[in-house]
Amino acid sequence: MRLLTKKQHVICYCDFCGKSQDEVAKMIDGKHAFICNFCVDEAQKIIRPQLALVK
Ligand SMILES: [Zn+2]
Repeated sequence: MRLLTKKQHVICYCDFCGKSQDEVAKMIDGKHAFICNFCVDEAQKIIRPQLALVK
């Protein structure tokens, strides 16, 4: 999600948690969405145990 402020400064918001780029350390720009470093961490916590089971 991209929004323009009054100053025409583009602010990106995480599409998963809704945090703005100013609230997070890193915003990752996808083709149609953004994800912040917090959501990447959360996703890895979910994915890692499942990947371990697959191996
Ligand atoms: Zn997020």
